[in-house]
Amino acid sequence: MVLERINFLKDEINKANYKYYVEDNPSISDFEYDKMFAELKELESENPLLITPDSPTQRVGSVSEKFFPHKHKYRLYSLDNTYEYEDLKEWYKKIVKEYGPQDLVCELKIDGLAMALTYENGIFVRGVTRGDGITGEDITNNLKTVKAIPLKLFEPVSVEVRGEVYMPKESFEKLNKENMQNGEKLFANPRNAAAGSIRQLDSSVTAKRDLSMFCYTAIFTGDLKDAPKNHYDSLMYLKKLGFKVNPNIRLCKNADEAVKYCQEWDEKRFGLDYATDGVVIKVNDFLVQQEMGFTSRAPKWATAFKFPPEEISTKLIAIEESVGKTGAITPIAILEPVQLGGSTVSRASLHNFDEVGRLDVRIGDRVYIKKAAEIIPKVVKVIEDEQHYNLPEYVPPKICPSCGSELHIHDEEVNLYCDNPDCPAKRCAKIEYWVSKDAMDIDKIGPSIIEQLYKKNFVKTPVDLYKLNMQDFMQLDLVKEKSAFNMYNAIQQSKNKSLSRLLAAFTIRNVGKETAGVLANEFETLDNIMNASIDDLSKVEGVGEIIAKDIYDFFRKPENIQMINELKSLGVEPAPLVLNISDEFKGKTFVLTGTLQNMTRDEASEKIKEKGGKTSTSVSKNTSFVIAGENAGSKLDKAQKLGVIILTENDFLNMLG
Ligand code: NAD
Repeated sequence: MVLERINFLKDEINKANYKYYVEDNPSISDFEYDKMFAELKELESENPLLITPDSPTQRVGSVSEKFFPHKHKYRLYSLDNTYEYEDLKEWYKKIVKEYGPQDLVCELKIDGLAMALTYENGIFVRGVTRGDGITGEDITNNLKTVKAIPLKLFEPVSVEVRGEVYMPKESFEKLNKENMQNGEKLFANPRNAAAGSIRQLDSSVTAKRDLSMFCYTAIFTGDLKDAPKNHYDSLMYLKKLGFKVNPNIRLCKNADEAVKYCQEWDEKRFGLDYATDGVVIKVNDFLVQQEMGFTSRAPKWATAFKFPPEEISTKLIAIEESVGKTGAITPIAILEPVQLGGSTVSRASLHNFDEVGRLDVRIGDRVYIKKAAEIIPKVVKVIEDEQHYNLPEYVPPKICPSCGSELHIHDEEVNLYCDNPDCPAKRCAKIEYWVSKDAMDIDKIGPSIIEQLYKKNFVKTPVDLYKLNMQDFMQLDLVKEKSAFNMYNAIQQSKNKSLSRLLAAFTIRNVGKETAGVLANEFETLDNIMNASIDDLSKVEGVGEIIAKDIYDFFRKPENIQMINELKSLGVEPAPLVLNISDEFKGKTFVLTGTLQNMTRDEASEKIKEKGGKTSTSVSKNTSFVIAGENAGSKLDKAQKLGVIILTENDFLNMLG
């Protein structure tokens, strides 16, 4: 029984290794791989007689036959890893017991490909992939095209440097976009894209790919006076020699500090421009490292804490065709529930039907889903196993799932649309958007209440919300007097929300909450906007001629004029924008990033606008200030690079007075 399981795990892991290391096209997620690997290790440690030399636990990586093999002078090991903080603490406890308290260096674990670079007297002579740790592939010419790799060091030292070649996330997205346009293969993630780029037989192809490298290990091979005595100093020395060393290294005094570092980066990692799958924790003192030594595949003085997976595979049970507020039909993946990034996921985005076709998603497939910060999970890949090809291809709908009208593609768009103005699903979606956070923010009214109100014929349009009385709510399922009052009250209170919210709620084509905010600031009243010419509108920042025409046309349609008149007669009157212009804000552009403690970003944004400032979602050289809350990510990095003034939340509060 145990032997059978061991053999099964060995087979599965070996198959996955081949796909991952040789084909750069993983068939399972890292999390699943690590789970199988940990199980195999455990079974082998309980049954040491069953360990065979060909077991994946006894070796590292794999070598392909694409390039000339090169035997490493010093073996390249893997790392033991865990997903649990407790294991990390346990690992440190054992070290303390034997060697006393130790400083630990925490580094981000870069999700790229390990390389060994050889320098003789300061000159780059060879670059080799890790391969199986003993033999790698000589890819010197390709590595020479990576600009972060110095060809000549600032000091003429002889050293073997190890590090990770990676592709920045932005470049990965760009490459995949280009590949998609050219009908070429898409990479599953930045690591695979880096692998596929660095192991090109033609180095001019590699040169065109945006690759970089962070270095994290130095083995000095010549005579070096005052050689670093610990890992941290050696990293600083690598930097001095001209290597790119990750800036987020931290020297920690104990396991608790290391755990804190891991927790911090588990949140902040999404803001980085490169993929990281965990934290590597290393004993700082080289003498202690030497004494601790290695197991058959990894150093005992280092361990990796892996972040909970961003990506996992599950079964696609169905594709829901959801009707949006504009009538656009969006495919949504209905999944067998899985745990991902701390929550249970049972639905994921499939964007549009073009994407469904591109991914060749079929109902019953096993698919990969991925979650990034603040973004709903999306389906990124289908596992093209035998079963996939036996499933029928998915055919996009021809008629609206809600009202049965024929669907159409609008000019130059990929979405399918239901153009029936009376489509029930479309009407409900419009009302749902009206009450949403981005529009009138009536948080007491949710989708199920709207559906009931619609079915009972109480509401057909957002305007009807303002005609409801408490008794209407009392007729809904499970609604008692108190919640009926709360819902009624929330609607009444929304009557005087800001003009920018009302404009956003109208769902004018191409006018989201940002543009609505700019328009409200510029024109101050609804009547002014309604009377504005296309020329007036297109002069507003961020509103080009096309959007200006969309806005102009919206306010000329009889049904929209009627809606606005009805709203007015029901008392929906945006509160006048109390401008309290201050010189510090006037004409300045602010970008908000990270979490603020005293207000939401939306509230901060409204305050900036009240004072005459503008907000933007991206940092550029035209940005006046970046307000950085906690866990600020790439926007903060960019601001630093561009020399934009960075304000803390306190600075901002002081500025507001
Ligand atoms: P690993 O990626 O877990 O960790 C070791 C490697 O981390 C080192 O060799 C080095 O390349 C890298 N690294 C990154 N930053 C580092 C830093 N700051 N300091 C030191 N090293 C750093 O181990 P591995 O042996 O490269 O690969 C095994 C892992 O790869 C598995 O745990 C799994 O997650 C993944 N894998 C997945 C599949 C799959 O099918 N999905 C197959 C094989 C391997």
